[in-house]
Amino acid sequence: MNDGDLSAPMFTPDAFRLRADQANLIGEARRFGREVVGPRAARYDRDATFPLENFRDMHQRGLLSVCIPKANGGLGADFQTYCLAAAELGRYCGATALSWNMHVCSTLWSGPLADDLPMSAKDRAEHEKRRSLHYDRVVNEGAVYAQPFSEGGPAAAGTAAFGTQARPVDDGFIVNGQKIFASLSGAADYYGILCTERVEGEAPSRRRTLYLSVPANAPGVQVIGDWDPLGMRGTVSRTLVFNDVFVPSDEMLMPRGIYFQAATCWPHMFLTLSPTYMGLTQAAYDFAVAYLRGEVAGMPPVKRRMFPTKQIAVAQMRIMLEQTKALWFQAITEACANPTREQVLRAYAAQYTVMENSNAVSAMAIRTCGGQAMLRSLPLERIYRDSRCGSLMLPWTAEICLDRLGRDTLYEPGENDD
Ligand SMILES: Cc1cc2nc3c(=O)[nH]c(=O)nc-3n(C[C@H](O)[C@H](O)[C@H](O)COP(=O)(O)OP(=O)(O)OC[C@H]3O[C@@H](n4cnc5c(N)ncnc54)[C@H](O)[C@@H]3O)c2cc1C
Repeated sequence: MNDGDLSAPMFTPDAFRLRADQANLIGEARRFGREVVGPRAARYDRDATFPLENFRDMHQRGLLSVCIPKANGGLGADFQTYCLAAAELGRYCGATALSWNMHVCSTLWSGPLADDLPMSAKDRAEHEKRRSLHYDRVVNEGAVYAQPFSEGGPAAAGTAAFGTQARPVDDGFIVNGQKIFASLSGAADYYGILCTERVEGEAPSRRRTLYLSVPANAPGVQVIGDWDPLGMRGTVSRTLVFNDVFVPSDEMLMPRGIYFQAATCWPHMFLTLSPTYMGLTQAAYDFAVAYLRGEVAGMPPVKRRMFPTKQIAVAQMRIMLEQTKALWFQAITEACANPTREQVLRAYAAQYTVMENSNAVSAMAIRTCGGQAMLRSLPLERIYRDSRCGSLMLPWTAEICLDRLGRDTLYEPGENDD
């Protein structure tokens, strides 16, 4: 636990039984967050511009390749290690951590996660060849990938086929459609989109979902709309339009049918938005403790900790933080292919808890620290605004987690009341 040292690990390696190599990598993310990303965060938030320099620096440190296998030149992080590293980064800049997640998922989902899924030998060999092209771009050129799935309809929640369509042609696809809330829009080198392969005479089906990486500079790709949101302003999540964009077959990030399988068999893949908000929860708590102790840099040492109301509020925040960390750590640790029903329900509970508690702890921190603490010269008001976004993020919004938790607890698979 963080005992007053704001730069201490969120999950102490000994207490949480992390290996030395994990602790090193997570520590690297924490140092990068504290020393490089944190001091830049206020500017990108104020201007609502994308912190591309952070991604250039991540490339230098190998962090763009965090989930790329070591054999391909990456750091070889597994799911749990990545989540813990991303939470550390989220403490210092929510927008950078969330955007990093969009990038990393293109390598995590096509990498360690795809390795867990059954594929024919031919598909496996072709996938290996294709992903090594993507890995090579990231490792050697510092290429940045985005992950625009949302369309404003029901597809991103996983209940309908994506409206963005890919028509097969010789050596590739012609893509048409639109994606909203595309973090890294205008900054990424590749957009890893989900779309539906059109098959003559067949209705669009989720089973036909393709995961394609569209080069940002391909003819027909356009970024439109403005970006002036409440929080996560540095993600620059504008709208993407694809108008007859040719995408070569080698840009397939997964073979046909594998994304659908992953979404079904590896559901924790959708937990990857939560580390950012786990980090924000810790940051709000840390700020409140430092503030009440009179230790926030640049603030007069106005000590308020002697009031019982402050002490109770800090106790409540700590309890929420500990509850959130414990549940989340369990969920990211047990993530695997074909989890049990209990594990999936726990993942929904973890996602809900992190997303809701990050904003609740931030709100409590503002109320407890008082008016001077919400000035824009301090990070707490940014943490509060950023944390508001978590429970809105598909496919596992707070509401959808509640819906599924309730329904799947009360009904066994296949049961109904008829
Ligand atoms: C800062 C930020 C960055 C983002 N970056 C990305 C990104 O990089 N890529 C990307 O793909 N998306 C991204 N998103 C989009 C995000 O994941 C959601 O798709 C988007 O916020 C949905 O908008 P909406 O609330 O209008 O959606 P709607 O689909 O209109 O949902 C509204 C609400 O209705 C509820 N709801 C929706 N469907 C169901 C259902 N089937 N069952 C029960 N309840 C339901 C949910 O609670 C949801 O919050 C980002 C969002 C934010 C805020």
